[in-house]
Amino acid sequence: MTSIEYTSPEEFASGYRTLQSTFASNRTKSIKWRKWQLKQLWWLLEQNLDKIVDALHTELNRHAFETLTMEVRGIKGDIVDMLEHIDEWSQGEKPDAGFLFGTLGKAWLRKEPLGVTLIIAAWNFPLYTLLSPMVAAIAAGNCIFLKPSELAPATQALLVDLVPKYLDQSAIRLVTGGPAEVGRMLEFKFNHIFYTGGGKVGRIIATAAAKHLTPVVLELGGQAPVIVTKTADIELAAKRIAHAKLTNSGQVCLNGNHIFADPAVHDRLLERLQFWFDKFLETGNEQFATIINERHFDRIAGLLKSSAGVVVYGGDLDRDRKYIKPTIVRDVTTDDSLMSEELFAPIAPVIVADVDRAIRIIRSMPPPLGLYIFSKEQAEIDHILDNTTSGGVTINDLMVHAGVPHAPFGGVGESGYGSYHGKYGFDAFSHTRTVVAPPTWLEAVMSFRYAPFDVKKAKF
Ligand code: NAD
Repeated sequence: MTSIEYTSPEEFASGYRTLQSTFASNRTKSIKWRKWQLKQLWWLLEQNLDKIVDALHTELNRHAFETLTMEVRGIKGDIVDMLEHIDEWSQGEKPDAGFLFGTLGKAWLRKEPLGVTLIIAAWNFPLYTLLSPMVAAIAAGNCIFLKPSELAPATQALLVDLVPKYLDQSAIRLVTGGPAEVGRMLEFKFNHIFYTGGGKVGRIIATAAAKHLTPVVLELGGQAPVIVTKTADIELAAKRIAHAKLTNSGQVCLNGNHIFADPAVHDRLLERLQFWFDKFLETGNEQFATIINERHFDRIAGLLKSSAGVVVYGGDLDRDRKYIKPTIVRDVTTDDSLMSEELFAPIAPVIVADVDRAIRIIRSMPPPLGLYIFSKEQAEIDHILDNTTSGGVTINDLMVHAGVPHAPFGGVGESGYGSYHGKYGFDAFSHTRTVVAPPTWLEAVMSFRYAPFDVKKAKF
């Protein structure tokens, strides 16, 4: 049973009042409360692993391995990290405040929760994109509205059941809805909004937030390029690109979208890509995810049909199963349909380009969330880094920069703003409040600022 009733405007308004008054009571500021809720979330995951795996299988035909490694393990890692650091991070820190404020007086940077935050998640990792930001929001002491994606209805229904059972309802509320319901929710003033999804909706969220001057983190996507240079280890590149394109059936925000192959290695790359797709499919065909819904299936099928490139592998589409076989398209040009938007599919368009041409094309497109370089030469890698921008970069692999402990994860330009993971997540949901107590006993020295003014005293 996956269909649920969306949160009504009255329910939302009542939840809003509850969360406002809980925050005002300082309940969520207590470190004990934060740790308790983080541990409760751990148990929510631990005691419901089978249900979570089943929900994601219903959603995407996804194998348990991918759900456990790419959703559950990540959230649990975040919980452990926050539990380990919450005492230290919530204490704030002493700035390098100079002799007057730092040595003679006392200056302090307090870390304070922002208030009531709204977390809106995407469907492709419906658990991680909802609960990982929540870990940071709890650790920082906020009240939280959780809005899962309605396009992942099995996960949404599971969370509707589990969240009230495990988490403190006076401070954490799960709310549901599609565009119309979210639109109404956005009329309320939040103290912070954390959104994961596409850029089109990201603009709607940021516009609505701006009316209340609400700060926003936007975790968006984009067309992440893969550059395979003439010095690359082609076997490794082919294997890892094929693996990424099969991960969640290519429906990963960080996935390599299109591939720039140097003319010197192009043919061999295509041949090895086919080899690795064959190999992975031969041993694990039933294990790979399918496309989320018919609408996305039709979108991808349309892009493929309109492409002027040459399909050299795959191209098989089965709408009943929402299955798209991994597909390699060669001779793709920059004005091709496959280059017109983020593919979010197991399709690998290949463009013949040496490093400088690849850089020119990348610079002509919006900054992506990830950029992937397969090269054995540091000078070549540095040249690409110096002449491009992206949320993050992985060298000789794809996507793994998102898993670097204590490193920020986020986009730049059209791939989003703000970041999270570890301390960056804690800070995203915190206000750093400067507090200073200048020395009272130094009045004789500090009185230089009072009238009558003496310009000689301004020159120090
Ligand atoms: P989406 O933009 O369609 O929807 C995301 C959320 O926005 C959902 O919860 C949905 O209910 C809400 N929403 C949809 N339409 C709305 C509207 N008109 N007004 C208000 N809210 C609305 O995104 P998606 O299709 O769910 O996700 C795919 C996109 O997300 C891709 O671009 C992908 O790259 C990106 N993504 C980014 C990350 C990241 O961490 N940066 C992670 C996963 C996905």
